[in-house]
Parts: sequence; C-alpha cells; structure tokens
Amino acid sequence: MSAISPKIFKPLRAAVRIRLLPWFAKNARDLPWRAEPRPPYAVWISEIMLQQTRVDTVIPYFHRFLARFPGPAALAAAPLQDVLKLWENLGYYSRARQIHKAAKILVRDHGGRLPSDPEQLATLPGLGPYTTAAIASFAFGHPLAVLDGNVIRVFARLLALPDDVGLSATKKKLQQLANDLLLRDQPAATNEAWMELGALICTPRAPRCPECPMRGVCRAIKSKTPEAFPVKKKKMKVPHKVVGAAVILNAKNQILIAQRKAEGGMLAGLWEFPGGKIAPGETMPQCIARELKEEMGIDIEVGPHLVTVPHAYSHFTIDLHAHFARIRSGRPRHLECAGHAWTTRDRFGDFPFSKADHGIIHALRALPEPPRYRDLFP
Ligand code: SF4
Repeated sequence: MSAISPKIFKPLRAAVRIRLLPWFAKNARDLPWRAEPRPPYAVWISEIMLQQTRVDTVIPYFHRFLARFPGPAALAAAPLQDVLKLWENLGYYSRARQIHKAAKILVRDHGGRLPSDPEQLATLPGLGPYTTAAIASFAFGHPLAVLDGNVIRVFARLLALPDDVGLSATKKKLQQLANDLLLRDQPAATNEAWMELGALICTPRAPRCPECPMRGVCRAIKSKTPEAFPVKKKKMKVPHKVVGAAVILNAKNQILIAQRKAEGGMLAGLWEFPGGKIAPGETMPQCIARELKEEMGIDIEVGPHLVTVPHAYSHFTIDLHAHFARIRSGRPRHLECAGHAWTTRDRFGDFPFSKADHGIIHALRALPEPPRYRDLFP
C-alpha cells in the first residue's frame, strides 16, 4: 500500500485511468522511437540518448545512429571511434562507450538481442534502475514504474510535497508512489503518460495547469504556486575552471591533435587540442607549455591567442583559451594521451571532438585563410 494517505492516493489512482491515459492517447507526441513495433534495440538507444538530453536534440542523432548501426551486431563490430563520431556534440560520451561495450556483451552472451528479463538487463553497462525500468516496460511490457526528472516534478506537485526531492528518502517515497500508481495492464502507457505530462504540461517553469488532466487531484494547484514544487535545497555554486589548449602548427601548416586516453575521464577516447587546467600563479602561455611537456613530452613556443571558448558541463564550467604554438624541441609522445595526429582544418571532421574543442575548430574555420606557420612564427 502506498506511503501516502488513502484520502489522497485513491482519487489519484482513479485519475490515472480516467484522466491521464485518455489525455496521453490523444496528446502523445509522434516520436521516432515510439513507432510500432518498438524494437527493444531502438528503445534502448533512445533511452540512453535521452538521458540529460532534450528530445529535439536526440531525434536526428537517433535516426543517424540506427541507420549506421541497425542492431547490436553492427554496433558491436564497429570501432569505438565510429560510435564516438556519431555521438559527437551529444555530450556525456561515457554513454556511447557504455552502449558499445554493452553491444559486445549482447552479441557474446545474448544472441545479439536485448534480454527481456529486467535482472539481466540491469547487468548491462550503462543501465541503471531508471533505464532498466524504462526498457523493460516500453519494450517488453514489464510492470516496472519509471521515475525520471519529469515524473518526480509531477508527483511532487500533485502531492504539494514539502520534502527535498534531492534526498534519496524522498526519491524512495516517490518511487513507491510510482509503483503503486502503475496500471499493471498498461505499464508502458502509464510510464510514458507521466513523462509526457511532465514534458508538455507540468513543465519546470509556467506549468499549464488549466490544460492539465490531473488538475482535479493536484494539491499544488490549490496552493496557487505550483512552480514552488518540487522543493530542492539550494545548489552549490558550480566550480569554474580555466583551461589552456595549444593549436600547434608544423612547417607544413598541419595542426597537432591528441587523443584522450580510452579509460577514465569524461571525454575519454575523444580528440582534442592538447592542453589542460591552469595552475595557481601561472600565465596562460606557461600553463599551455607545461601541459604539453607533461602530456606529450614536447617543448613548445606559445604564440598568439586564437579564441576563448566558454562551455558548461553538468558539474562545472570552463573557459578554454586556445593559443597558436609551435614545437621548439622533441617529438610528440603519448605520456598523458592515447595518440596524436597531424591534420588540417579541412580534415577535423575525420575525428570525434568534444563541443568545447569544436569552438576552437569553428574559430579556425572562420579565419579567411588556413593558419600558416611562417605568418605566425616568422
Ligand atoms: S495541475 Fe498544474 S501543477 Fe498540478 S500536475 Fe497539472 S500542471 Fe502540474
């Protein structure tokens, strides 16, 4: 039985069947991963892509990904670099590495298919409780309730919940409520209806209460300030980092790029303009020169500034300062990187880069002519 009082729970549960599901049947968006039949593989890829990412951003990636890797076998057989290239600018690149790893496991242990058993699903890399429940219910019809950010917000408002939703005790309580409100005969529709309500009507700012099918049972609407829910304790200030990067040219006007190590780190396996975080008391040229010595074992001369790219990651922000540079002595070695390449600004498309590094590429391509060594270092 639900942790909330029957006086609140019973009308809520009744409204799920008579209000929420009819509203969803009429208003559900026509999204590519909802097309019937819903192959489990497509459900899996869409759920991973949709983590922390907006639906309209995901749609073109989803189409490209399924066209290039139509199933686990094609995905498992592809080099990781190809998967990262298709994932470029979608962010949270560990997701791409995890699905590549999971595809290999599917081919090796599950006949190239996603297992329908939620316990087996949960053992795959990259699948947490949320994604496991989503795939199990959407692709296989298991009665598992999904609790994502949208659902948490809707529930917190329906209950006018005074508890901090960042606490695991609150999440547990809401998961219990989601389980209790799940219609066993329509688990996928119930889950998706809550998520859709949060995405279309009960939005973080300015919820559209007059159009909401659940307004008759919503306690936040009675408070007149539905936006006050969910209650969240104040966020810590996001740290800011200042980072330097070298755009190193050689006498053939080629540019040096480095590949990040494949294991560990948020941008593992991607390519970058080598550099790193500034240390206390350093100037930017000193920072870049030190980083290149540590990362690739080369002594460089740091030249003119090219661009500063501001970028926000989920837990910190950066200002990425790119300077032109040239090698004074030494040959690039892979001390703190996995590889290197000399390329030109027309060939950057051959390599997967992070969004911040794309800011540098953009600045290089915006120059009227490709940068020339002898102009920069006469
Ligand atoms: S009535 Fe308003 S606050 Fe309540 S669930 Fe609907 S949209 Fe959200």
